[in-house]
Amino acid sequence: MHTVIIGNGIGGNAVAFGIRKYDPNAKITIVTRENCPEYEPGALPYYISGVKARQDMFLTKLDDYSNNNINFVVDEAKKVDHEQKKLYLDSGNELSYDNLVIAAGGNLVVPPFKGLEKEGIFGCKSLADADALYAREGKVAVVIGSGLIGIEASEALKKKGFEVYLLEVFGWIMPRNFDEYAAKKLEKGLTDNGVHVLTNEKLVSINGGDKVESITTDKRSIICDTIVMSTGVAPNTELARQAGAEIGLTRGIKVNEHCMTSIQDIYACGDCAETTDAITGGRTLIQLRHNALEQGEVIAKNCAGIPAVYKGAWAITRAHYFDTESVSIGRTFNGIEDKMDVEVIEREFGSDYCRLILDKGKLAGAQAIGKFSKDMGFLFSSMWRKDDLAEIRAKWDKVTNIISPYPWHYRIIGRYMNLK
Ligand SMILES: Cc1cc2nc3c(=O)[nH]c(=O)nc-3n(C[C@H](O)[C@H](O)[C@H](O)COP(=O)(O)OP(=O)(O)OC[C@H]3O[C@@H](n4cnc5c(N)ncnc54)[C@H](O)[C@@H]3O)c2cc1C
Repeated sequence: MHTVIIGNGIGGNAVAFGIRKYDPNAKITIVTRENCPEYEPGALPYYISGVKARQDMFLTKLDDYSNNNINFVVDEAKKVDHEQKKLYLDSGNELSYDNLVIAAGGNLVVPPFKGLEKEGIFGCKSLADADALYAREGKVAVVIGSGLIGIEASEALKKKGFEVYLLEVFGWIMPRNFDEYAAKKLEKGLTDNGVHVLTNEKLVSINGGDKVESITTDKRSIICDTIVMSTGVAPNTELARQAGAEIGLTRGIKVNEHCMTSIQDIYACGDCAETTDAITGGRTLIQLRHNALEQGEVIAKNCAGIPAVYKGAWAITRAHYFDTESVSIGRTFNGIEDKMDVEVIEREFGSDYCRLILDKGKLAGAQAIGKFSKDMGFLFSSMWRKDDLAEIRAKWDKVTNIISPYPWHYRIIGRYMNLK
């Protein structure tokens, strides 16, 4: 059996080394357009700031591929013929496969701003982006977009010595992970460290000659020499679309419980794949590392002839920057469409903060800053089990009774619900 994997990222490597673990004789090929071993995208900001060395970014060595008998092909996958089971590469070469895995990640999405052709505009997604930002010498940087990548890029550039502006069109930072009150507290972790956070503000144009000299927003102009785009990551579905695989409503490649696409023997995992949400059971695209890893592991087993089912993607985000520690799980209040039965419970002690979002009496999401981040495991397991929190509240006196029939972790969850 020959498995060909497109992409040498987190998902692709989980598939390749996973298959080898289960099947010593399988033929495995990784096709990568980046001429380097696997690296950790989440660590790139630490390299940009100089906190970590470039060589610490790598998770594998080139020898690991040859030692595990994995063909490492540096080329770009261009076309799939699923009837002939062939993959065509940019070099003109072709590969025959029994199983094909699309682990092609995501592409940075940049809206059509005026002035994008100028020198001084960067991404913060690939090792090449990080190399460029590491080498960049400048004075003032503007980071466009305040998702996880934008926050981490801002911290990295600040530590590198830039004056940093973080621009967010939405009313608060990290809007997909945190509601406004939590996000405003998180904003302080940036502003206290000298990052200028501009929310509710839209980029209008990038100005200058050949090089970036300033930007204009709908509120002001900022003189700057460096711009980092962190305006979102779209699933890389080009090959799947061309092959005729179904694309889901989230715009990811739709896969079933075995992580197989709508085309027999073509699988997809990671940032390009639409799977199910482990908590809600709905279709979802949660572009996080642990999901790519787990999906890759499921595909590896299936390709090695061990039937495996994917339990679903988890929305757990940890945002750690300067001395701020925060975690978000599940859905935000803002992200729940039907708010009829939604209840928000908050706890706050100084800079420590926690917010629970209950939907129909069950935990739908939680956001924690500071010391509350440590207990998120209890809340996550409650969400996973779909605990009836209304019941815990109604029977609180029995929960806290010394000979309580209820498990002890109910007491912790109750405290988070401000029950006394
Ligand atoms: C700065 C940054 C910070 C992050 N922080 C976190 C975090 O804190 N927590 C977290 O969970 N996640 C984080 N992530 C996201 C996480 O890194 C991704 O979810 C994960 O890398 C997805 O793995 P993947 O295999 O799907 O894609 P990737 O790791 O992106 O790999 C895809 C690979 O496919 C290659 N490829 C694409 N098309 C082709 C083609 N046609 N031919 C050949 N090769 C191709 C690409 O070049 C790339 O090497 C962060 C990401 C970044 C960039």
